[in-house]
Amino acid sequence: MKEVVVIGGGASGLMAAYAAAESGNRVTLVEKNEKLGKKIYITGKGRCNLTNDCPPDEFLQNVVRGGKFLTGAIYAFPPARTMQFMAENGLALKVERGNRVFPASDHASDVTKTLVSACTRLGVKILLNSEVQKIERGDRFRIATSNGDLAADAVILATGGLTYPSTGSTGDGYRFAAEAGHALIPCVPSLVGLELKTAYAQGVTLKNVVLTAKRGEKVLSSRLGELLFTHYGVSGPLVLSLSAEINRLPLAEISLSLDFKPALDEKTLENRLLRDFTERKNEQMKNVMRGLLPATLALPVLQAANISPVKQANAVTREERARLISALKSFPLVPTKLRGFKEAVVTSGGVSLTEVDPKTMESKKVKGLHFCGEVLDVDAYTGGFNLQIAFSTGYCAGKNIK
Ligand SMILES: Cc1cc2nc3c(=O)[nH]c(=O)nc-3n(C[C@H](O)[C@H](O)[C@H](O)COP(=O)(O)OP(=O)(O)OC[C@H]3O[C@@H](n4cnc5c(N)ncnc54)[C@H](O)[C@@H]3O)c2cc1C
Repeated sequence: MKEVVVIGGGASGLMAAYAAAESGNRVTLVEKNEKLGKKIYITGKGRCNLTNDCPPDEFLQNVVRGGKFLTGAIYAFPPARTMQFMAENGLALKVERGNRVFPASDHASDVTKTLVSACTRLGVKILLNSEVQKIERGDRFRIATSNGDLAADAVILATGGLTYPSTGSTGDGYRFAAEAGHALIPCVPSLVGLELKTAYAQGVTLKNVVLTAKRGEKVLSSRLGELLFTHYGVSGPLVLSLSAEINRLPLAEISLSLDFKPALDEKTLENRLLRDFTERKNEQMKNVMRGLLPATLALPVLQAANISPVKQANAVTREERARLISALKSFPLVPTKLRGFKEAVVTSGGVSLTEVDPKTMESKKVKGLHFCGEVLDVDAYTGGFNLQIAFSTGYCAGKNIK
């Protein structure tokens, strides 16, 4: 039996504490907040999309960084095991669109309650309001906290990343890892909104549009989905996914375009315009456009096509029509900046994977030091993948205390 200290009472720390205790170790979980699972509480808009009900190979396709490193952990503790764990510990689940798994109650707090009660049943000691300040390795570990020192044979670092710092994820773990001699991959926000040079149509949501990102002539990504116009630029599922792919690239080199009518090819769209122009021949273009787009987008699109909004439909020339088709099929958006960590769903970057054993999550530099969750240089798309990564890596860290 080993004495294990888990630092951080989020998804990864709770699962690590459970797995370490299940393996017969004496476990203490240290959390600086006054309660556990503060971030879990806000996940999935308060409903907690705790995993994605898909097989490991499909899961790994949704990992943006660290897919190879995570392969062993995801196979060892796949989504099916998370679902089994929750069910065995009394939490009923439901699966929604896109295999997203939620508690049947729709309460994220029930996920935390389930993890905490599984831990306490196995005798995990929980210390709240205890901030770890330093970790030292001698014969054993000495963990200095705001409430005194702890000693341990093994330490699991589950301190999370940098996003939504009000939940406790303030990046302390990166400092501890660096002090232990670990290399860090610079952190950038991921799954986050994008500021544009010009913000349009605040509050408008468009479903079934295609957002394409290019660097030079190279298409980086092109996806169909939902996009939200905000006061600063754009957000919504399409933009969050895109942010994960461009967050390490120079934004000045990236061009974005929006296809408002992906279901219509250019010829069909032209026929549709001709019909509208004939039916509403004496109306001004800004009004005619309302049949195609929300009112607040009509003006920017007409401006991109260089057509006066007060021009009558029957006066629109062939060239203007061609420009309008082009503006509707490939409306340019100029990105200036990703929104920051305060609004991002996950952190990309963190403890370099080359110095961590992917089976045990143990440091290759400091024996007995393990990492799990967002503190590692791993991240995935939305859909329950990031919490599952926290559970899989937490479980592997806890199970492999030697
Ligand atoms: C708004 C939002 C919604 C999200 N929704 C989803 C979703 O629906 N599905 C999904 O899969 N993912 C979602 N995510 C991502 C997911 O929540 C995280 O990836 C995951 O919770 C990370 O877990 P973690 O245990 O690694 O870190 P965290 O949850 O950040 O936990 C780290 C813990 O360590 C504690 N800690 C830090 N430093 C110290 C210290 N020095 N001493 C003691 N304790 C310390 C912190 O207080 C915190 O409790 C969402 C994220 C956000 C921000």
